Amino acid sequence: MPFIPREELFVCEHCGEQVNPLGKGTYRDHCPKCLYSKHVDRDGPGDRLSSCLGLLEPVSVDQESKKGFVIVYRCLKCGKTSRNRAAQDDHLLDFMNQHSNIF
Ligand SMILES: [Zn+2]
Ligand SMILES: [Zn+2]
Repeated sequence: MPFIPREELFVCEHCGEQVNPLGKGTYRDHCPKCLYSKHVDRDGPGDRLSSCLGLLEPVSVDQESKKGFVIVYRCLKCGKTSRNRAAQDDHLLDFMNQHSNIF
């Protein structure tokens, strides 16, 4: 499978939001509105080696001292968990309010 950088507009498979790219050199790997992502990486962020392609459900948000906010995901298809760094314009507060039971 060829490497396809996500630098163009894409449509979120969960909420249907049209998502604009972040800019040169940074690829966006999740929807800023509902935070859902897609299971495309196998061993690390951006490797695009997974053939799962299930939807990644955001289950929690962590704050790490070096990276800032990190979104914790669980794949709805295979159950694998992974972590992605949050983008600056992610709707983290909305997510935290909706999941206030875990924060
Ligand atoms: Zn979305
Ligand atoms: Zn998966």
